Amino acid sequence: MPIAETAEKNLTRRDFHSHSVEESDDGRWYVIDQQRLMSVTTAMKSIGKRGLVEKAASLSAEFAFDELPTLTAASRRKPCGNTWSRCRHEPGEFCDRCPCKVCRACVERWVADHHNREWARRADEGVRVHDVAEWWSYHREIKDHDDDIAGYVKSFQAYVADYGITPDDILLAEALLVHRDIGAAGQTDGAVRIHAERTEKAAKLVSRLTQVQWRQAQKRRLTLDVLFDIKTREDEEPRFFPENSLQLTGYRHFPVIRVKNSDHEVPMIPVDAGVIVQLLPHDYAVRPVVCDQATYEQGFLPALNLYRWLIEDGPAAVSSRTFVLPETVAARARKAAKEQAASSPATSIAA
Ligand SMILES: [Zn+2]
Ligand SMILES: [Zn+2]
Repeated sequence: MPIAETAEKNLTRRDFHSHSVEESDDGRWYVIDQQRLMSVTTAMKSIGKRGLVEKAASLSAEFAFDELPTLTAASRRKPCGNTWSRCRHEPGEFCDRCPCKVCRACVERWVADHHNREWARRADEGVRVHDVAEWWSYHREIKDHDDDIAGYVKSFQAYVADYGITPDDILLAEALLVHRDIGAAGQTDGAVRIHAERTEKAAKLVSRLTQVQWRQAQKRRLTLDVLFDIKTREDEEPRFFPENSLQLTGYRHFPVIRVKNSDHEVPMIPVDAGVIVQLLPHDYAVRPVVCDQATYEQGFLPALNLYRWLIEDGPAAVSSRTFVLPETVAARARKAAKEQAASSPATSIAA
């Protein structure tokens, strides 16, 4: 299996997992006790691509206008011929095969690739915001962070204050959830207990998920355990996509929690619902999403299997080196062989 080989070659250990959990460099796999488990995050991300194509194009178009003088200068330069060369040296070093970065071809590539740099930057911001949130749940304080994520951190603080959430209410933080039977694993942001009596927003969330009127929910001191997914979004307005619910749906149905920094495993805690917390630079939005059994069976599992097929069998399905024997031809051959065996039993026994 070429993918298994690649995965084993590229394995790296990451501090935050126990030593027996490894991740492939391409982010597709976890390896736990020698079993290769598909990364839920990677699988779900690759399924939900809607909106990204247009966004990528508009980011590059915007960027082209921001960089007009560079583009104008590049339009008068001949291609250096090195635009696509893959240098093997460190990023800071130079060789005579390096792309010139000023010719038309190089600048075109630079503009076209802008969305990738942009998404890498945003993903990195997201990781650091998650670190702050996780730190808070363990250490009860907001740790020092860079200015570029200050807005998200403020939004996070507003969210926990508005919903009356304290670090004691976090039931699970950044845990690895495992489902060996379906061959998948993934890191959940965690689970939290919402107390209706704490704030009006908490009561209204509980009310929405229990159908109990919110003042009643407060009076009866109802609580609700929810699995949550924190997402940072660099925009003024929150926006949710159907595939956002798939990841939470998957995690909710995974049977095992792998305890951090240990080889211990415990059963997954039951939760009442799944909630996406979208942190914006100046605001936040809390959205309960459907993550029931039907979504698991009709949404999550097919999405996971589709991704598995795409990376494991997909390339061979269209490869020029794949030997394709149409099913009809194979069936005809089997039939012919059977008929021949029936008409000349002596020969077939001799053979
Ligand atoms: Zn070079
Ligand atoms: Zn060039």
